[in-house]
Amino acid sequence: MRINVLGVGFDNLTMEEAVCRGMELLRSPGTHYVVTPNPEIVEACREDPAARRAVNAADLVLPDGVGVVKGAKMLGTPLKEKIPGIEFAAGLMERMAAEGLSLYLLGAKPGVAEAAGERLAAKYPGLKIAGTHDGYFQEDGPVAEAVRQSGADCAFVCLGAPKQELWMAKYGEATGARLLCGLGGSLDIFAGAAERAPKFWRDHGLEWFYRLCKNPWRAGRMMKLPLFLIHVQKEKSRK
Ligand code: UDP
Repeated sequence: MRINVLGVGFDNLTMEEAVCRGMELLRSPGTHYVVTPNPEIVEACREDPAARRAVNAADLVLPDGVGVVKGAKMLGTPLKEKIPGIEFAAGLMERMAAEGLSLYLLGAKPGVAEAAGERLAAKYPGLKIAGTHDGYFQEDGPVAEAVRQSGADCAFVCLGAPKQELWMAKYGEATGARLLCGLGGSLDIFAGAAERAPKFWRDHGLEWFYRLCKNPWRAGRMMKLPLFLIHVQKEKSRK
């Protein structure tokens, strides 16, 4: 049973369990998709029913970041741990490489997905990069068809939220991939175009603060975090 945090149902798994579940989905017939909502996405889902439907219809819903874990705890239904999308992706790629599976990288500015592909192929020998495409396209159909033509087992869809969730819900099947993962800005990090917060900040639940200091233009978006906690507090009182 999923844990409900302000209308988004989260799977209650450890990182190891989540990666195993991802690999199971990758081996199962049909198309499946994974989403990794943070508080900002939960807030977007509160305002946008289509985004909420796309997120809740995912086969795996993982809490990306400490905010959601804190919210679940405040509501008296704790989650086992935070599962940052980028770490989930790394765990998945390690296992995919061992099985010689193929990955399509979709999203980010032109050139970023190719650079990420080169670095990932070097980091995970055995992993096949089936193809890449930037995230600034006009027509969806030809992009889904390009993924299908590549024969990729899995696709990382990094278009920002909730665009990537809506895209996976609508075009996932047309890609023919068995698993799609919505991973926000991960390609920028895999390509070396952006950095993750150092370990100290991550371990202390301060990755969001580090990102804010590095990118002050994110301040508007980050105001969603206190708003999220206020909404959780209200929900707690209501309960
Ligand atoms: N992006 C894209 N197409 C778009 C809008 C955004 O490919 O139409 C990409 C953008 O270049 C970036 C990612 O989506 O690589 C979103 O990154 P962000 O840091 O906002 O996501 P987060 O990790 O915070 O969810």
